[in-house]
Formats: sequence, C-alpha cells, structure tokens
Amino acid sequence: MTDLEQLLDVQAVDTRLDVLRQQRAKHPIAAEIAAIGAERDTAQGAVDVVEAERAELLRAQQRIDDEVSSFRSKKEAAEAKLYDGSVEAHKELLAVQEEIRSLGERQTALEDDELEVMEQVEEVTGRLDAARSVVQGHEDRITVLEAELAVALEAVDAEIVEVTTERDAVAEPVDDGLLGRYDTIRSALGGVGVARLSGGTCLGCGMTLSAVTVDQIKKLPDDAEPTCEECGRLLVR
Ligand SMILES: [Zn+2]
Repeated sequence: MTDLEQLLDVQAVDTRLDVLRQQRAKHPIAAEIAAIGAERDTAQGAVDVVEAERAELLRAQQRIDDEVSSFRSKKEAAEAKLYDGSVEAHKELLAVQEEIRSLGERQTALEDDELEVMEQVEEVTGRLDAARSVVQGHEDRITVLEAELAVALEAVDAEIVEVTTERDAVAEPVDDGLLGRYDTIRSALGGVGVARLSGGTCLGCGMTLSAVTVDQIKKLPDDAEPTCEECGRLLVR
C-alpha cells in the first residue's frame, strides 16, 4: 500500500472524528435545553409581572391598614375625652360624639376596602403560585436533560478517545511531510484532504478531469503526490 492509499484510511478515520466532534458541539439535547431555557425565561417574566402586581396590592393593603389604625387611635382619644370629664359643655360633648361617629364610619369604610384588597391579594397569590409552578416545571425538565446530556457527551468523548488512538495508528506509517500537506488541504477544504481518482473523476469534488490530465497523472512516478486541478485535493490513482 502506498502512502497515499494509506492516507485514504486516515481520511476515513478523520471523517469519523469530525462527525463525533460535530455531535459533541451540536448535541440535540443541548438544543432542547436551550429551547426550554428560553421558555423558562418567558415564564419567569410572567412571574415577575404577577409578583409586581401582588407587591402593589400588599402596599395598598398596608396603607389602608395604617389609616385604619390612625382612625382607631383618634377615635379612642375622643372616647377617652368623653369619659375623663375634661369636656363639660353640652355643645362640646355633642361635637366630640359627632367626631367619634364620623371616625367610626370612616374606619368601617376603610375596613371594607381592606377586605376587598385582601381578596385581590388572594386571587393574585393563586396566579403567582401557578406561574411559579410553570417555571419550576421547566427547571425540572432542564435538570433531567442536563443529566442526560452529560451521559451522552461522556459516551461521545469515550468514542473520540478511541478513534483518536485508531487515527494515530493508521497515520503512523505515512510520511510526515505528506501528512502535513494532507492536514493543510483538509482543514482548508471542509474536512476532505485526499480523494480517489475513479474513472477520471475526482471523488473529492466530483469533477471529471480531462483525459490528457488523467493520462499525465497515471504516468507520474509511484512516489508522486498529484492533486486535483479542480479542487486541489491529493489524488489516489
Ligand atoms: Zn477534485
């Protein structure tokens, strides 16, 4: 077997390695994880919106609560005034009573408002729980897929190691200069550096060479390293 023929075997192993590296770089599970990650981000956006809505309601509830307390203490102060004997004039007593009544009314109205806000908080909390569970569902799925991806990549890596050992063995008998030339052409031409010339056609690019060129190539000495005039790949006669 000539060095060039041996190089075809190297090419076959290199092509297998390229496929494996491609599998590693663009694993379908990784693409699935990315897609679910995007869905998770969208779902998280929905959670953020509902969270902001809930925070706003809680602030409103707090404001009402503070107002209720303020009316309650004003009412208590007025009630104390009524019974501690500090107000004696009848007219003044009536005014304090009226103040207590008015404060009580406003307090009741606010308490009704507060109840309404509390119902809204409850409703929004339900929606928030649902939105959060959607995010959690995506995250759980991602965790499972990440574990699957790790296992899959480990298998690909093991195969890469195995095939790399094979490549070293197959390339070992080939002249270093020729191997270097092959590597340069291969990396420049999409992974294929050497091809067989079959029936006047370069199997690297699929072009049929002229009869004269084919004849010239066939007459070259055994140690010649002809290349395809169309694509530049090394040719095996
Ligand atoms: Zn060619």
